[in-house]
Amino acid sequence: MAFRSSHMLQGSGRTVLRYTEGGTAIIELGSNDESVITFTAARMESLRTHIAEVRAKNPKGLVITGVSENMYAAGADINLINSVKEAEEGARMAEFGQTLFDEIESLPFTTVAAISGPCVGGGCEMVMACNYRIISNSNKSIIGLPETKLGIIPGFGGTQRMPRLIGLPAALDIILSGKTLRAKKAKDVGLVDEMVAYDRLLDTAIKVASGAMNLKRKPIKFINKLLTFTALGRSIVNNQTTKLLAKQTKGFYPAPPTALATAIYGLGHGMKAGLQLEAKELGRMIVTPECKALVNLFFLTEGAKGLGKSARGELKGLYGVVIGAGTMGAGIAGLFAQNEHRVILQDRSEAAIDKGIAQIKKDLSRASHLSEQDKNLILNRVEKRESDAPAFGSVNFAIEAAFEDMKVKKKILGDISKRIEPDAIVATNTSSLSVTEIASSIERPERVIGMHFFNPVPKMPLVEIVRGAKSSDKTVVLTAALSTKLGKYPIIVNDVPGFLVNRILFPYLNEAMYMVMDGYKITDIDKAALKFGMPMGPIRLLDEVGLDVGAHVAEVIHNGYGDRMAAPPLAEKMHKAGRLGRKNGKGFYDFSGKTETPFTDLRTLLGVTKPEVEVSSYEPLADRLLSNLLNEAVRCLDEGVAGAPGKEAANQIDLGSVMGIGFPPFRGGVIYYANAIGAAKLLENLEKLEAAHGPRFKACDGIKVRAKMGKGFYN
Ligand code: NAD
Repeated sequence: MAFRSSHMLQGSGRTVLRYTEGGTAIIELGSNDESVITFTAARMESLRTHIAEVRAKNPKGLVITGVSENMYAAGADINLINSVKEAEEGARMAEFGQTLFDEIESLPFTTVAAISGPCVGGGCEMVMACNYRIISNSNKSIIGLPETKLGIIPGFGGTQRMPRLIGLPAALDIILSGKTLRAKKAKDVGLVDEMVAYDRLLDTAIKVASGAMNLKRKPIKFINKLLTFTALGRSIVNNQTTKLLAKQTKGFYPAPPTALATAIYGLGHGMKAGLQLEAKELGRMIVTPECKALVNLFFLTEGAKGLGKSARGELKGLYGVVIGAGTMGAGIAGLFAQNEHRVILQDRSEAAIDKGIAQIKKDLSRASHLSEQDKNLILNRVEKRESDAPAFGSVNFAIEAAFEDMKVKKKILGDISKRIEPDAIVATNTSSLSVTEIASSIERPERVIGMHFFNPVPKMPLVEIVRGAKSSDKTVVLTAALSTKLGKYPIIVNDVPGFLVNRILFPYLNEAMYMVMDGYKITDIDKAALKFGMPMGPIRLLDEVGLDVGAHVAEVIHNGYGDRMAAPPLAEKMHKAGRLGRKNGKGFYDFSGKTETPFTDLRTLLGVTKPEVEVSSYEPLADRLLSNLLNEAVRCLDEGVAGAPGKEAANQIDLGSVMGIGFPPFRGGVIYYANAIGAAKLLENLEKLEAAHGPRFKACDGIKVRAKMGKGFYN
């Protein structure tokens, strides 16, 4: 079918067709000068032309391969997904890919995909149209269908071919979570047929394609065949998965249930009908606001990865020291070691260091993709050192994660900075202290920086890079490069109280505490946030953060910004009563049972005198919780707290809000959300709240001006 979308005509990239001396055709998906191979319109057209040529030539077989060990095909060009404005246009785009991959599937000779590097989305859909798939054992090799993470469904036949290839349960496990599998796992589930070293990949594929070697496909297990190819089996899978999805997505994400229905429909009605529905549903999904928000977020994560790009080369040979082997320090040292950097873990006693090492081992035990040998290699990169060790040789990156105390941090970093390489970077993981002040005690403060990881370190994807008044650009960029290398998304923020993430989070947590004092039940407050899409309610989050830590950060922020950031002293009262939150099993909730339950004497302990409020609708509660978070985020936007005011700052704040505080991804981030509801509506909400609850809800000038001028938040 001819492809008509003008959007698909943009982009670059070709495929290359050649033949071996033995007469096997080889299609290469790109060229060595392309760092990422995507299915641009040009590449799709080129692939189609080459498939037609190969069909006419009728060779011994066909191998479709990439150009390097590190890249196969990363799927459709995301710009293209973003540009589609009409459902019909999206459906046409899907039909084009489907038709092309049907042509591959119907070739009258053996087709083999020789995969190394990422083979995801459209790439994975293409290889499923081949007769066989061989993958290299490179740790860069991954395969899967991440479309639902972008708010769409696989549209080039993925919802149809994958269940037929590996059975419905295994296919849904991949499609509905949007996950990708490493080579070994992909072979275990039968998504690929063979795994070989990269230097044998092409050779093996040519042998299989030309008939010189046979491969045996892994059969689908009998029980999974029943669950895939019988109506009764599918209905069982459908019922169970629908319930599971409702729990996981809470109805916020339309793509996974749509993918489920499409896969099941196709198995019942045949491939052709299934593909038709898939194209139509891809079109419907691609124009949803959820898709647009998730795609925007994808671009933000890519942008964050680019922040330290220019300094990537300088990370070679980076040798770190982490001072403080507690919760954060052990997590950070573990990341260094996992990412191939030698690291010294230092604390005041051997026992403290051993505790840190035990935590690193525990974190590693959860990394199922690592072999025992890999884990030992990683652990061998961590060296133990007590505080009074004289010198640290060639260490060129120091980060402290000791107690949150200005004197302690100044002393630690002042001392260590004299014992490591003279131009080494000196970083602090402080969550609330001024980086500029810490730097004042260190010679050459231009190399001092805040590198604020979040807890738990292995899981939380964000690092706030806090630029002190004297931090140099070189220090900032290198720290951003390191953050990316450690698998985190960096945002670069100014050294203001609370930096960015805590500055916008605390008005929300504070408001939750005001609501407790107004008589709302903590379960209702938390439910309102969950219904908005937050991963955890604010009261439950306070328990998680710890009420001692929460009270301390709240104080720093109150001191920094004055009365609008004041909170009722609930965290303090809880702290004094020995209720520290989840860490000692007692907070706003009690954690002694299987699930947490609200602390029964809370009202008495906190001195709540207002009558308990019965809630009939949760939306007003969510509006109240979020209005000052949005208000503060707009202040940060206009002050340039993260990036230059305008789009750059908006992007950094959006990314920080999603990755740092769990603002719902389908809402795109705080500024994206503020933009969607509009300045006028925001102002109206704030004015109502101000009338009811006082001046802390006074709208900032940035909201007032934009409301008056009818402007959005991105300009
Ligand atoms: P922690 O209490 O678990 O660990 C602190 C460690 O530092 C302890 O092992 C202690 O023995 C060691 N230490 C103290 N003084 C030292 C010294 N002079 N030399 C060597 N080691 C010393 O604390 P944590 O939760 O890991 O927090 C560490 C830092 O990270 C703090 O600044 C905190 O504000 C920040 N932070 C914490 C979190 C969090 O949620 N825990 C999140 C982000 C940032």
